Amino acid sequence: MENQGGEKKRVVIIGGGVAGSVIAHSLQFSADVVLIDQKEYFEIPWGSLRASVEPSFAERIVINHSDYLTNMRIVVSTATNVTESEVITADGHSLAYDYLVIATGHKDSFPRTRSERLSHYKSEFEKIKSADSILIVGGGPTGVELSAEIATDFPGKKVTLVHRGSRLLEFVGSKASRKALNWLISKKVEVLLDQSVNLDGVSDGVYQTSKGETIKADCHFLCTGKPLGSSWLKETVLKDSLDTNGRLTVDEHLRVRGHQNVFGIGDITDVKEIKQGYLAQRHAQVVGKNLKLLLKGRKERKMATYKPGSAIAMVTLGRKEGVAQFPFVTLSGRIPGKLKSGDLFVGTTRKDLGLNPDH
Ligand SMILES: Cc1cc2nc3c(=O)[nH]c(=O)nc-3n(C[C@H](O)[C@H](O)[C@H](O)COP(=O)(O)OP(=O)(O)OC[C@H]3O[C@@H](n4cnc5c(N)ncnc54)[C@H](O)[C@@H]3O)c2cc1C
Repeated sequence: MENQGGEKKRVVIIGGGVAGSVIAHSLQFSADVVLIDQKEYFEIPWGSLRASVEPSFAERIVINHSDYLTNMRIVVSTATNVTESEVITADGHSLAYDYLVIATGHKDSFPRTRSERLSHYKSEFEKIKSADSILIVGGGPTGVELSAEIATDFPGKKVTLVHRGSRLLEFVGSKASRKALNWLISKKVEVLLDQSVNLDGVSDGVYQTSKGETIKADCHFLCTGKPLGSSWLKETVLKDSLDTNGRLTVDEHLRVRGHQNVFGIGDITDVKEIKQGYLAQRHAQVVGKNLKLLLKGRKERKMATYKPGSAIAMVTLGRKEGVAQFPFVTLSGRIPGKLKSGDLFVGTTRKDLGLNPDH
């Protein structure tokens, strides 16, 4: 077993996404910290659709972990097992911990290196640029935002968005769905609801939907949800802390139920709120605080508690507009666009990790 040594307590963080990057950054000088992530970089998810239509944007959102985590060890591998005292990775590391943080949000199939990821964005861009007609499958935030980015930057292209559900953006209220739908229609995006696309039976750019409609498109983008990154926990000491949806059950301090020294943060937790990155960042801040307290030997009852977030959500509609849901009002157009759609909070996210906001 590898011991990170010294007097300092050992903290292992699994998952270098939105929540994992924030907590790793905040703890790196307070303990002996190891971050385990499947890839060498953190990617800012809310910039990813802009990066598909503007590949240079990807340079700012794909950030090597080593650029902002200067005082800790980074293990690029998949965590495969957790025992009461160590984490095992696919490439054979066993990492001992005093405290463990699980932040494996969603499973992704991103390449391992930053340069591979940047090339991927370049080829996405080429795919869009060279197509006259584009099919987007999935009308959640990713599909809606990608349709809007393409409709804004390439208004001459025919974009068709197909969604299985009866309304777009089902994670927010129906007002926001309607506003997004109307905006897309105003930009000549064809939106087909209540149907799915058979991606196995595509021939010569002709796609069939479950309602028997035919769509002609030069290429397609699959924007359906990703599975939770918790299936690997089912054979571990944390298996009894998973709920029936595969989420990690946590208490008000975001500590995994039944485990004194294990915390869960981000989308993987069962906190009752919309799963969003800005809330995952808040989880990371609360657990960062709690761990700093415990690392100093302070009393557990002094730990901070987390209050679930309210149903605030913003969806970008191209470079200047958006839809924003607040507790008592839902807005669309330039005002929500001003809040998010220009820089997409990329500068702020970089700054929070101690990086230059611009490059
Ligand atoms: C396109 C898109 C746009 C979005 N826009 C917004 C937005 O505008 N505002 C907002 O608030 N939220 C937004 N979200 C949601 C937000 O990105 C998520 O809520 C957030 O990423 C959750 O953070 P997380 O750290 O829990 O998980 P993730 O960010 O999913 O990170 C999980 C990390 O764990 C790693 N991992 C998984 N399993 C393992 C394993 N076994 N071993 C090692 N590593 C592992 C993954 O590689 C990944 O790095 C968006 C999401 C997407 C996809």
